[in-house]
Amino acid sequence: MKLAFLFIGACAATLGSLPASAAGVDKLYVLDCGQISAPDQSRWSPGVNVGVPLQLSDNCYLIHHAQGWFLWDTGLAEAIAANPDGVKGANGFLMKRPRTLVSQLEQLGVKPADIKAMAVSHTHPDHVGNVEEFPQVMLYVQKAEYDWPGEGGAPRFNPNHPVTKLEGDHDVFGDGSLVIISTPGHTPGHQCLLVRLPQTGTVVLSGDAVHFKDNWDNRRVPGANFNKEQTLASMQRIADILAKDHAQLWINHDKPQSDSQKKSPEYYE
Ligand SMILES: [Zn+2]
Repeated sequence: MKLAFLFIGACAATLGSLPASAAGVDKLYVLDCGQISAPDQSRWSPGVNVGVPLQLSDNCYLIHHAQGWFLWDTGLAEAIAANPDGVKGANGFLMKRPRTLVSQLEQLGVKPADIKAMAVSHTHPDHVGNVEEFPQVMLYVQKAEYDWPGEGGAPRFNPNHPVTKLEGDHDVFGDGSLVIISTPGHTPGHQCLLVRLPQTGTVVLSGDAVHFKDNWDNRRVPGANFNKEQTLASMQRIADILAKDHAQLWINHDKPQSDSQKKSPEYYE
């Protein structure tokens, strides 16, 4: 873990000395991939705010790199969009999808087949809902997540989907501008994405390493979580990267933060 951290630091130093135009990533779009209403925040913050309802954003991120488009997370299943009042899920959740992912890509003139590569933070349904809208797109996922048996031992992904199984960090385009960071704990092979933007600076996309700011500030671990110690270690690792890279943490499900962000077709550069 220490070596990987040093590696990211080295990338930062190298890229920092290049002009902005030399950076591989030039645009990041925040896409609305669903809205979730939950009846009890303490599901994520045991013993705190018990019985207090919580609204969660559910974002996807489309990134343009000189070598092609990259999609991070796929959100709630597109089919939910057919029910404008939402769909009730387990644990009293109400899930809505005001816009489909594919329609938001279309608005940008991007077809699913135009995506060069994709990755998901982990295999919970609000992140992998639409992987098969992109059946030919190379998927980057941690081996530990890929091999984690689903319900009844079912595979987590369509076995025919092209996949690169990772065992740790991965610099997607080899220039340090888009780096998948291994952050296990929430699930066995959870991962985050570090994006180095020429104007905005470095952003870490959280996945579900943390669900909202108050949990981040207090290092709280949700009840429904694979491994608490790993989750806390991953949070510390993210904090170290943020400090070292002067990076921002964009928390996928933090609705107040999400509401403050530009949404596609506007973008960050
Ligand atoms: Zn999750």
